[in-house]
Amino acid sequence: MRYQEVELLAIGAGPSNLALAVAVEELAPAELARNTLIVEQRDDVVWQRGMLMPWTQSQVSFLKDLVTLRNPRSAYSFVNFLHATGRLDQFINLGCFTPYRMEISDYLRWVARTLRDARIEYGRRCVAVRPNHTGNGDGGVGEWIVEFADGSRVVSRHLVIGAGRDPHIPAALAGVPRDRMIHSTEFAVRMGELDPDRARRIAVIGGAQSAAEMLWTAHQAFPAAHCTMVMRSIGLNAYEISKFTNELFYPSFVDEFHNALPDAREQLLREMHRTNYSGLSPDMLDTLYRQMYVDRLTGTERIQMVTMVDVADARMEDGDVVLTLLDRKTGARTEHRYDVVLLGTGFVKQMPGIVQDLAAAAGVDEISVDRHYRMGLPASYTATCHLQGVNEATHGIADSLLSVLAIRAEEIVADLLTHRRAPRLVGSAQSAR
Ligand SMILES: Cc1cc2nc3c(=O)[nH]c(=O)nc-3n(C[C@H](O)[C@H](O)[C@H](O)COP(=O)(O)OP(=O)(O)OC[C@H]3O[C@@H](n4cnc5c(N)ncnc54)[C@H](O)[C@@H]3O)c2cc1C
Repeated sequence: MRYQEVELLAIGAGPSNLALAVAVEELAPAELARNTLIVEQRDDVVWQRGMLMPWTQSQVSFLKDLVTLRNPRSAYSFVNFLHATGRLDQFINLGCFTPYRMEISDYLRWVARTLRDARIEYGRRCVAVRPNHTGNGDGGVGEWIVEFADGSRVVSRHLVIGAGRDPHIPAALAGVPRDRMIHSTEFAVRMGELDPDRARRIAVIGGAQSAAEMLWTAHQAFPAAHCTMVMRSIGLNAYEISKFTNELFYPSFVDEFHNALPDAREQLLREMHRTNYSGLSPDMLDTLYRQMYVDRLTGTERIQMVTMVDVADARMEDGDVVLTLLDRKTGARTEHRYDVVLLGTGFVKQMPGIVQDLAAAAGVDEISVDRHYRMGLPASYTATCHLQGVNEATHGIADSLLSVLAIRAEEIVADLLTHRRAPRLVGSAQSAR
């Protein structure tokens, strides 16, 4: 069985841990960078794999890349990527601050390829993390044992989890067979599985950007399909894009949010909700509305909006997916038949399963992180675990976005450098080795 020992293990090669790797290379001693391993479950780095349609764009400026806000002179900047790949003049000429998602994805892959010291290993899905007790009877833990789907193990003193969030599949829809339902995290990859002759009635659940992008893509790809968007809200809405509230996405705002009283944090998250959730980009909104207008004009209506409903139940009957919709206005229940259901239902709000399992193994009842994203662990632990991208409740709405990555990575590296001075406790679990 394959076994490795590293000082820093980062789970997930998404933007969060790539920013971390860049920060380790630029800010930490070379021996730590050389002893850093990033593990990625997929065979390559792809940003938003499930929603990587060629026309989709990032919603934040290209200057909010993995590093520029921390070190504008870095070799790992988006601008240097464009320069190195011979596309800088083309990008400048486009005159656009928000790159295509594809370009961001290419940039991330380029950074992953270009890293000098930190290593990335692909095709390694972490399935469990457990503390390696010293066996001295004092509860001491100085390292983690991380297990992978292929049975291999890595022992690491420091762990950073940047594995994204778990997809949310509403309980009412949990029983719909996999070949009839696609969550947005898999959409671009699995859309090709759909048979245009069979996917004639498509339901898209959700009223935000991902749902709208799937609706639009399905409408364009399947000319014979009728596409219904099913949502709880009163109708589609634009993202809130005020430059005033956008200032709250500055990395410098994290301190203010973190120090805020509970009521103020709640107000900030509530009032900023539509800057990132439950909204559509103005372009997408306009595109859909115009399409529906033209369809009505020409008598070829294929898009339908069903608003203010909850999906109360789903079952299979005569080869159809039958959704029971509960009308929030009247309380009436109606049944509707579809061939395929697309889920734009977002992500689970709670901590990802991998973090919850780690907490349970460490005897931690309530998962929390400090200002430096370090997870609260028993005092007897010198092993550390930092969590990236899942701390919206304590670090603000920008936590899951690119906006704060560069600075957050710096803060985590600074915290790691402080903690690596503590004496090392070696675990007793022989099975780890
Ligand atoms: C459709 C969509 C569009 C978005 N657009 C924007 C945008 O325009 N601007 C913006 O700032 N943010 C956007 N976001 C938010 C997005 O969360 C961040 O941009 C960013 O991707 C977060 O990076 P991350 O590294 O924390 O997580 P992720 O990007 O989710 O990366 C996590 C990585 O971990 C890997 N992984 C997961 N589990 C394991 C495991 N068990 N073992 C090994 N590897 C694992 C995954 O394969 C993945 O590569 C968007 C999100 C979505 C869903």
